Amino acid sequence: MEPVEVRRSSRARRWRLEAPWGEPARLTVPQRMSRLEVERVLARQQQWIVRQRERQVPRLNLDRLAVSESEARTAARELVGALAEEAAAELGVGFRRIRIGAQRTLWGSCSPRGNLSFNWRLVLAPFEVLDYVVVHELCHLRVLDHSARFWRLVEHHRPAWREQRAWLREHGPEVLAFRPGP
Ligand SMILES: [Zn+2]
Repeated sequence: MEPVEVRRSSRARRWRLEAPWGEPARLTVPQRMSRLEVERVLARQQQWIVRQRERQVPRLNLDRLAVSESEARTAARELVGALAEEAAAELGVGFRRIRIGAQRTLWGSCSPRGNLSFNWRLVLAPFEVLDYVVVHELCHLRVLDHSARFWRLVEHHRPAWREQRAWLREHGPEVLAFRPGP
């Protein structure tokens, strides 16, 4: 049985269990949940954790020692910058700044004021996937939400966007959990 870190939170309304790739499983429970209840949840959810772990099998052959984070960040900045310039021209939008970050769960984001942020780990994904994420965020400068209008816009500019999104769903957790070597 895998050990589970239990955290009590005054904001939690109900329990929430996570088993992130490469990290210990975590159970967040409301402040007042009794020990007995916590133990019951843990016992009942062991199988769920096992199933998550079974899916977390590396398949991308990412080599921790072959990647330096600072080099990857530089590459991400250059590549994302160039793609964003291109896509902005294509879409007829302007953006302000691009930040390259190390978000744990996000590939990219876009503020209404036009500040873009991208995860450096995108350089570990196929080029088409990175390109899709950049175009996706820039499309948000035209349509902020994920409405049908937004997806039509994405589709117009990147007709194969579903493939890239499917790749992210399948392999994204492995890429997000990637930690470069020392
Ligand atoms: Zn979006």
